[in-house]
Amino acid sequence: MPQILEKQVGQVDIGDMKVINIVEELVWECFKEVIEHRPGICRCDRCMADVCALALNKMKPRYVASDKGEVISKAAFLEKELKIELLVAVADAVEIVKVNPRHEME
Ligand SMILES: [Zn+2]
Repeated sequence: MPQILEKQVGQVDIGDMKVINIVEELVWECFKEVIEHRPGICRCDRCMADVCALALNKMKPRYVASDKGEVISKAAFLEKELKIELLVAVADAVEIVKVNPRHEME
């Protein structure tokens, strides 16, 4: 897996607290789950970034305030409904990028 999958996306710091969009945190997790079941999709950095961007654009952001020292438990935030919404958004994005990769097909 390329490094980008472990990367944290946007983040706002306020003193000792930070405000994070848990959807951004979770999209990587969902993405990893989705591509495991879809071996046909291109895994280059560009396509993976496109999939994540498309999926995030479809999702409403959900911000939470969190202590900087606190480890965000992804499982704790992962309500069933949110997870389903994310999986659908990621799966749709995968299909779009699969049909229209922004590079030559190999
Ligand atoms: Zn690609």
